[in-house]
Amino acid sequence: WSQDIVAAVTGANRGIGLEIARQFAQSGITTILTARSEERGQSTLSLFKAEGLQNVAFHQLEVTDLKSAKDFSVWISNAAILSRHYTDKRQGARDVIHTNYYGVKNVTNALLPLIRAGGRIVNVSSRLGLLQASSYPVYLSFHTLNNEKVKETISVQEGLSENLIDSFVSKFLEAVSKGENFQQGWPAVDFKGTGREAFFDYSVSKIALNAYTKLLAFQLSNKIHVNSFCPGATQTDMADGLGEKTVKEGADTGVWLALLPPSSNLPSGKFFAERVEIAF
Ligand code: NDP
Repeated sequence: WSQDIVAAVTGANRGIGLEIARQFAQSGITTILTARSEERGQSTLSLFKAEGLQNVAFHQLEVTDLKSAKDFSVWISNAAILSRHYTDKRQGARDVIHTNYYGVKNVTNALLPLIRAGGRIVNVSSRLGLLQASSYPVYLSFHTLNNEKVKETISVQEGLSENLIDSFVSKFLEAVSKGENFQQGWPAVDFKGTGREAFFDYSVSKIALNAYTKLLAFQLSNKIHVNSFCPGATQTDMADGLGEKTVKEGADTGVWLALLPPSSNLPSGKFFAERVEIAF
């Protein structure tokens, strides 16, 4: 791969993001690792240099407060949080939604004008955010705003819009602030016996991210390819002992998607896991 291709990764100072940045640098493309902490980012940069990777640079980037940009070909939105350690669940839910959904939008909106035609955006998402999950009402349907179950994945042709996704997450935060989210049927995912509280807000943030990925791909109509992927339960701080995959395995599908050889039928608006397209 040519050094003219510039890739940037959010949350690249640890976990899956660090490994994605490492694999980009190893492939020969110019890699910008970003981290919200200058100190943590610089220390990852030093680590990469010590590994002999020269084509890497660091730029500070807090995804909820974006001020910086560059002429990118590949953008990986990886940064995300869980609210597990919050004692105030309402604040936790707000931070999760603001980092995992609005953070991606902030960065995408700021960088989109700089991403070249043929460029790629890869959003790191999760199977916990499947749009088609039918065990709870997802409120993401433009026509179903009461407790009816949404049977179909919402399609952009049917009216998926940024306003709709924003109002979806607002309704969720409103339900959380009233303490009514479970009662209203919002996600209560007991992932590997962690309890229904563990991913209740994370799931909504990733549902919103998956919907946004679909919408953006439609809006960019194949000029820039936008996809999301689930790394699978990976051994990082976030997974807190629940991960089965190594970070190398977790990063694999994202790097593969970002570096697919140019072709006229590159995927866009799709969701992947283990290098295979899966349903949203
Ligand atoms: P980690 O918790 O190990 O790393 C998260 C990274 O995101 C850190 O670099 C963190 O920076 C950064 N980050 C968090 N908030 C912000 C912010 N506001 N601005 C900039 N950077 C921020 O998580 P993983 O590597 O496990 O997760 C990476 C992605 O993979 C996430 O999108 C996650 O949802 C997804 N995922 C992970 C799974 C897993 O099992 N690990 C499973 C499915 C999906 P800092 O060090 O400063 O906190």
